[in-house]
Amino acid sequence: MKVLKFGGTSVGSAERMKGVAKLIADGQQKVVVLSAMSGTTNSLVEISDYLYKKNPEGANEIINTLELKYKKHIEELFSTEEYKQKTAELVKSVFDYIRSFTKDIFTLFEEKVILAQGEIISTNMMTNYLCEQGIKTTLLPALEFMRTDKNCEPDVTYIREKLTALLNDNQGYDIYITQGFICRNAYGEIDNLQRGGSDYSASLIGAAINASEIQIWTDIDGMHDNDPRLVEKTSPVRHLHFDEAAELAYFGAKILHPTCIQPAKYANIPVHLLNTMEPTAPGTLISNDTEKSKIKAVAAKDNITAIRIKSSRMLLAHGFLRKVFEIFESYQTPIDMVCTSEVGVSMSIDNTKHLNEILNDLKKYGTVTVDYNMCIVCVVGDLEWENVGFEAKALDAMREIPVRMISFGGSNYNISFLVREEDKIRALQSLSNQLFNA
Ligand code: ADP
Ligand code: ASP
Ligand code: MG
Repeated sequence: MKVLKFGGTSVGSAERMKGVAKLIADGQQKVVVLSAMSGTTNSLVEISDYLYKKNPEGANEIINTLELKYKKHIEELFSTEEYKQKTAELVKSVFDYIRSFTKDIFTLFEEKVILAQGEIISTNMMTNYLCEQGIKTTLLPALEFMRTDKNCEPDVTYIREKLTALLNDNQGYDIYITQGFICRNAYGEIDNLQRGGSDYSASLIGAAINASEIQIWTDIDGMHDNDPRLVEKTSPVRHLHFDEAAELAYFGAKILHPTCIQPAKYANIPVHLLNTMEPTAPGTLISNDTEKSKIKAVAAKDNITAIRIKSSRMLLAHGFLRKVFEIFESYQTPIDMVCTSEVGVSMSIDNTKHLNEILNDLKKYGTVTVDYNMCIVCVVGDLEWENVGFEAKALDAMREIPVRMISFGGSNYNISFLVREEDKIRALQSLSNQLFNA
């Protein structure tokens, strides 16, 4: 069985939902994972923000606007009174539920419940629409099988057992719809897999049922060799290794969430990125196969801060790096890039929540300098060290651009450059010209 995930953009209007329904109703049995309609999760976050700030009027205004939008969607989507009414009742009960949180104390717990409602609405709408079309469809509630453990990691055994049982109890349907993003935590409370987490849901579900393929449907034509919003002349990439896709997903190519890679990779299930607007286009296939001697793509990640610590005591000393890394660890701040020399080490981070504390602690061990508003530009492809020429080509493209750090050799698939944010587009364009359009 295949697992197909449609993102918020793909179910963003009644028209789009009809398109998805046409696409999935091909007679083949499948699990379909849906995001909330685009913009909805952001609105639910806004509602929660108002409620945290004890501003129920502000919250109610957004709730009312959002509810009106859904009334319109229902009018456009359904053709029979029966299904219009059935869906309108469901949507009304969801909005009444959301409104009930405007009257009481508001905590993280209530916020998680509110954030879950977007996917609950979209999946009910799609299920009802498919049923109205006479397609054998049922809704498998994610809250009954998707679960995280005490470390907030997916509880893979629980997910497999519960989902298998649910599918067994619901045999004979062509389409099983479920919610992306939402889950329960180890205590049974409603939770989620973080923003953009529907891709993760699809991958976990694919691994749990040993799917033949996981399809991620979005509104553009697969991964591109560079960011089409920033750079001229980009082309889709047809095939990527899981590790290449992981580097790209993490370093900015937002069409796939980085967490989605690992479950599919270990279960050896190919992930296929496809375009809802052009369903017959080949898209991008991600698998455990490597295309030899090819540079695949370039991506960039903004809002990076570079920190350098220089210490004469580092010379011939051991344990210095451990001390430095421990400081970042104690503030739960991940390090992205690292470059070392005999007298210093440079690191980059994207989470600056504890930057001041980190800098104060680092200053005990040496002279610290910081560069703000930096950007990681990463080149992804078959960059095994024994292949010659690729590093030179990438470096040559950076000829005119001030480079703060270079990282190569961390994996077989990546060279990263740290540059100023203002040089990002120039760097991306120059790499594109040198690597793909020469
Ligand atoms: P979905 O609803 O399918 O999950 P999102 O709205 O969450 O999609 O975000 C994906 C969108 O981000 C795409 O529509 C695309 O236009 C845009 N996007 C972000 N980064 C990139 C990139 N590197 N290349 C192409 N498109 C990108
Ligand atoms: N709806 C959630 C979000 O917007 C999850 C997702 O779309 O992947 O973050
Ligand atoms: Mg998304």
